[in-house]
Amino acid sequence: MNGDVIEKAAAVLGDRARRDVPLGPLTTYGVGGPAALFLEHCGPDDLMLARQAVAASGIPVLIVGRGSNLLVADAGFGGLALTLGDDFSAIHRDEGESLVRAGGGLSLPVLARRTAALGLRGLEWAVGVPGTVGGGVRMNAGGHGSDIAATLTRAWLFDLAGAGPGPGRPHEREAHTEGAVEVPAADLDLGYRHSSVGPTQVVVAAEFALVPGDRAEAEAEIAAVVTWRREHQPGGSNAGSVFANPPGDSAGRLIEAAGLRGHRRASAFVSPKHANFFQVDPGGSADDVRALMEEVRTTVENRFGIVLTLENRLIGFESSPSSGG
Ligand SMILES: Cc1cc2nc3c(=O)[nH]c(=O)nc-3n(C[C@H](O)[C@H](O)[C@H](O)COP(=O)(O)OP(=O)(O)OC[C@H]3O[C@@H](n4cnc5c(N)ncnc54)[C@H](O)[C@@H]3O)c2cc1C
Repeated sequence: MNGDVIEKAAAVLGDRARRDVPLGPLTTYGVGGPAALFLEHCGPDDLMLARQAVAASGIPVLIVGRGSNLLVADAGFGGLALTLGDDFSAIHRDEGESLVRAGGGLSLPVLARRTAALGLRGLEWAVGVPGTVGGGVRMNAGGHGSDIAATLTRAWLFDLAGAGPGPGRPHEREAHTEGAVEVPAADLDLGYRHSSVGPTQVVVAAEFALVPGDRAEAEAEIAAVVTWRREHQPGGSNAGSVFANPPGDSAGRLIEAAGLRGHRRASAFVSPKHANFFQVDPGGSADDVRALMEEVRTTVENRFGIVLTLENRLIGFESSPSSGG
């Protein structure tokens, strides 16, 4: 990254930004290098400031949720990383309504448990996804036969590369965060682990249409999801499914059939418990995880002629298609 770009952005951000902050501890892999600039616990004013920094410098940005789908290169991320703060972790339900609005920084398991406690059905599956509402919308996270798209009605996006509130498209109204626009779920192109949310667009809030139901049944479903996860998925440092499932098949089944369950590459290894989860030793290397991904992908392609695509997002790797978040 051009040092000028970073200095220009740093000049706008002033004391609010920190430099060379390790991103590994902000991810569930727990490995990887620093962000050149970092804005922690952002509120609306910080997003506005970050937007000014982007406008002044063109610096790439990385929005970090719980880092539960991110692998950051050992060399780090040569841009501005940011996390959302408490201003974006509220949950709101209008009395008697089954519509729930949640902040983009709210944890998905918390959202699942809170809505179940309100006797609202539809998000129980999300207790097993250790990310945020914003990361969940961007990824269209899902599991147990459901996904974000199943109940999302609309989201509010703040574009760090945007010019300001502006007139917007007809359906876009200013949301509670100045400069954020409201986008109906139908316009987010939600598909399997996919959305049209771009790297500079911060999901500041999302609204879900849930179904009134029985609290005890909702909580029993939550408990069943938690038990299933404990039995079928490994603990330790990982970021869930590394590869997306190819149509009609499962990436885990293919990796296992290729004889790679438990396969180790330096500090990284394929989980012995679930072959589509990779783990890394404490103090290990993100570049080892990246190399393991390539080795597994090549082996599966050579054995079965199927090219696996990454579900994990790679940040800061030179050849990474999704560098920049
Ligand atoms: C043990 C384990 C189990 C998992 N199981 C599942 C599963 O069953 N189903 C599933 O779908 N995923 C699963 N995951 C992966 C991960 O939890 C999801 O992809 C989740 O949606 C990522 O959310 P996050 O907040 O951690 O996002 P991050 O990993 O921090 O970021 C992921 C992407 O979202 C972007 N992003 C983050 N926050 C925002 C925001 N507010 N606005 C805009 N963009 C944002 C990031 O820039 C990045 O591009 C699992 C992960 C782990 C560790």
